[in-house]
Amino acid sequence: MRRYEAFRKPVRCPHCQAEQIGTLLYGMPVFSPDLEARVKSGEIILAGCSMTGDDPAWQCKICGTGIYRKSRKTEPATHRNDLPECGERYNLNPG
Ligand SMILES: [Zn+2]
Repeated sequence: MRRYEAFRKPVRCPHCQAEQIGTLLYGMPVFSPDLEARVKSGEIILAGCSMTGDDPAWQCKICGTGIYRKSRKTEPATHRNDLPECGERYNLNPG
């Protein structure tokens, strides 16, 4: 699959052109009514703890294409120590 990159969150999916791009949030989020609303609206996609150090920043909600954040300087994807701590998987729908 082609790797898509962008400097900022794209309006349209570069693959299927859908205007359904969500921001991926990794790790265990600090939950709040604001975050809950943004997750429910689809603005934020909880990506869980499956981080590799080279993960897309946004994702199309229609086709699932990941879009990577383009950085002006190339950084090696080996800084695993920078990744947030991950505890229990967050349950978005308790009960
Ligand atoms: Zn798409």
